Amino acid sequence: MTSTIDPKSIGKPQRPRRHVRTLTGYLPEVDVTGKEKWPKGEEEVWKAGMRGVDKDVSDITKSFVNHAQTSLARQAYNLDDFGAYEAAALAARDDLLVNWNETQLNYTRKNPKRAYYLSLEFLMGRTLDNALLNLGLKGEFEEGVKKLGFNMEDLLEKERDAALGNGGLGRLAACYLDSSASQEIPVWGYGLRYQYGIFQQLISPEGNQLEAPDPWLEHQNPWELPRLDVTYEVRFYGHAERSSDGSGRANWSGGQEVMAVAYDVMIPGYNTKTTNNLRLWQSKPKRGFDLNSFNAGNYEAAVESSNSAAAITSVLYPNDHTSTDLANEATVGKELRLKQQYFWTAASLADILRRFKNTGKPITDFPDYAAIQLNDTHPTLAIPELMRILIDEEELSWNQAWQIVTNTFFYTNHTVLPEALEKWAVPLVEHVLPRHLQIIYDINMYFLQAVEKKFPGDRDRLARMSLIEEGYPKQVRMAHLACIGSRKVNGVAELHSELVRTTILKDFVEFEGVSKFGNVTNGVTPRRWLDQCNHELSDLITKTLKIEKKVWLKDLAKLEGLLAFTEDKNFREQWAAIKQRNKERLARHVQTTLGLTVRTDAMFDVQIKRLHEYKRQTLNILGVIHRYLTLKSMTPAERSKCNRKVVFFAGKAAPAYYIAKLTIRLIVNVARVINADADTKDFLQLYFLPDYSVSLAEVLIPASDISQHISTAGTEASGTSNMKFCLNGGLLLGTVDGANIEIAEEVGENNVFFFGHLTPAVEDLRYQHAYHPVPIEQKCPALAKVLNEVSAGMFGDGGVYEPLLNTIRQGDYYLLTDDFDSYIAALAMVDDAYLDRDEWIKKSIRTTAKMGKFSSDRAILEYAESYWNLEQTPVS
Ligand SMILES: *Cc1c(COP(=O)(O)O)cnc(C)c1O
Repeated sequence: MTSTIDPKSIGKPQRPRRHVRTLTGYLPEVDVTGKEKWPKGEEEVWKAGMRGVDKDVSDITKSFVNHAQTSLARQAYNLDDFGAYEAAALAARDDLLVNWNETQLNYTRKNPKRAYYLSLEFLMGRTLDNALLNLGLKGEFEEGVKKLGFNMEDLLEKERDAALGNGGLGRLAACYLDSSASQEIPVWGYGLRYQYGIFQQLISPEGNQLEAPDPWLEHQNPWELPRLDVTYEVRFYGHAERSSDGSGRANWSGGQEVMAVAYDVMIPGYNTKTTNNLRLWQSKPKRGFDLNSFNAGNYEAAVESSNSAAAITSVLYPNDHTSTDLANEATVGKELRLKQQYFWTAASLADILRRFKNTGKPITDFPDYAAIQLNDTHPTLAIPELMRILIDEEELSWNQAWQIVTNTFFYTNHTVLPEALEKWAVPLVEHVLPRHLQIIYDINMYFLQAVEKKFPGDRDRLARMSLIEEGYPKQVRMAHLACIGSRKVNGVAELHSELVRTTILKDFVEFEGVSKFGNVTNGVTPRRWLDQCNHELSDLITKTLKIEKKVWLKDLAKLEGLLAFTEDKNFREQWAAIKQRNKERLARHVQTTLGLTVRTDAMFDVQIKRLHEYKRQTLNILGVIHRYLTLKSMTPAERSKCNRKVVFFAGKAAPAYYIAKLTIRLIVNVARVINADADTKDFLQLYFLPDYSVSLAEVLIPASDISQHISTAGTEASGTSNMKFCLNGGLLLGTVDGANIEIAEEVGENNVFFFGHLTPAVEDLRYQHAYHPVPIEQKCPALAKVLNEVSAGMFGDGGVYEPLLNTIRQGDYYLLTDDFDSYIAALAMVDDAYLDRDEWIKKSIRTTAKMGKFSSDRAILEYAESYWNLEQTPVS
């Protein structure tokens, strides 16, 4: 039997296991009971952390110089900041590796149940600062680097972001890895090692977004370990023939075979030895090139297979909550994306199964040792893939296999937007993965039989629930497959989870019972999103609470202690002074990167997130124009009483998302006009900061007085940047949507600014837009005036913006005409509140104090306890 992975190889290393030995004289011998017998003197050396672990400043400088001269082959008197960054990174990596090895050994010995987090995106950002923080070596490295004549801050700036993600979903995966390691939970991440991460965003003089590639691997990456010996073969195309023996098995053969090679990224926990793993797969051709063609002188044919194998992991798809149709992708593009998804899930499953088989347990025990979390529907092919392995290779019955599958997988839904629900054309799946399509049809058949039994004769229900959507072509509904193949399903905030239960998966709740459908509200890691990005605030909190940082950073509810200090004037002044210095830091950043001068004696109002109609950056920019027109109409005396404000935007648009790109263009051109207007520029400034990233977020968030999270009610699943801002004492202006609601529950409605229609009203409003439209001049004159000014060319050629303005004038799917007036009223309330400085600072302190719930530690512990059934497994 041929198949993707040679069945005989499962449970064994792909290559013959090399004869391995333990280094004698250094390590303890372990007897069958797990008891260690140490060579003389070695135990003390290891326990004191002296073997391989940096412990003081002089060890660090030694290691640094050593790496500079050997690993980097640089001369000590010829080192620039980038070289120094690399040397520091390699020194830190040595410490991570010691911990990583101990953690993996600990897991192998204790063999706990593990969880695997399958995510097509990991938006990691920079690593060095985080690694040093988690190792507890920040101070020592700073001092060591200084002794050698360098400045740590400059070195940190030299690191390039690892940007293997689009936005919130990828950053969530990164926060969850940090929290898993910090909370000593055995979790591995699985993803792809893209050669090119999310595109770099450039803004043309006209204000258009341009995309440039992100060749982040151009320099050697010190944070990954190539595992060239950990490889799997993955098959595409070919033929699937069902056997005639009635067993339900099939034989899949032929087609293309591609190798998956593992690259491991160490994930250190904060203040613990636990260092987990993120395994990223890179594709490579099974054979380097076709020797026959090469010998025949046909060079191009010889490298062709090599090119198409390498293409699989070459680039991250830049869509966020937009379907591939909207991106208007060519068929080849869609096929490549499907191949990415299968390549990644097949390699990850093979790796997980091999690890399980090494324990010698029977395959039926698999769900007791492995939980696999599907981050959105992207890894859903893991469900038919595991069925294929269990049936065709392990020779289990259908029922046995389905029992294992449905106890192994867990599915997190990230959106209820219809256009963002993943679907794959049946002919494409059949072409690329013929055996998997058979299995999907079989799953569907058994599933619909069961539905029919429970709801006899309900044809509409069967059509709604089917894994296959009728049409030309037919399509596979990945959310339905993920749902029925999983043990549990969750949304990412209370409101969102309720919408999942009552809209897109309503029929499934009725069929399977509500207890399968839960909620885990998202969280963010306070290590990166408070201590690292705002260390002054973090230090003030430590000093004020008189609780060690290493305690409260892992038990964020402790922040509540700050409430006792809201009436302490001295504390409030320190709190406000830190916010001010963070604004100045942001202003310096804008000055050095863009050459623009930002005034810092103003309220900083920030909206940074992917550009999307549902997130309504358009509402924000139209509000800015409204403010500008109002200021223009005032006398200088009236104006002088107004609140000074600087508005920041940042965010990328999917390259084919025309309307989102037009919004960027409008923002940039409004900024050009407003910032040059002598009448108003003391009162209103506007900036679009290009190339939004984790590192840019780390500078923007601590500087914000107010941030905007203003999605149409019911469209933003959770949001996580709202949590980051509030954690840093920025107040929230938002709609009653996603996690905004739970933030308000925690901090109290007095400390947030809410506006706009509520979720239950949205459907009716859209119905009215469609069937009883009211002209915008009548419905919302203030907005009509703004649109007219844009059309009339106040910000350059008005005609350019007509397609964007028409989305509001006609249809207005995202309800700008319904929410504009209450939005403007909310902005006025923000202005009033800001003018009462003392009360504002109190609100800011109260906000940070109540953010304990939104630590990703809380979220990951919920997954571990209520979903995966995992236990903390500390390195002893
Ligand atoms: C947190 C974060 C996001 C998510 O932002 P939302 O406002 O929740 O959509 C996106 N991109 C980056 C770089 C982030 O850090």
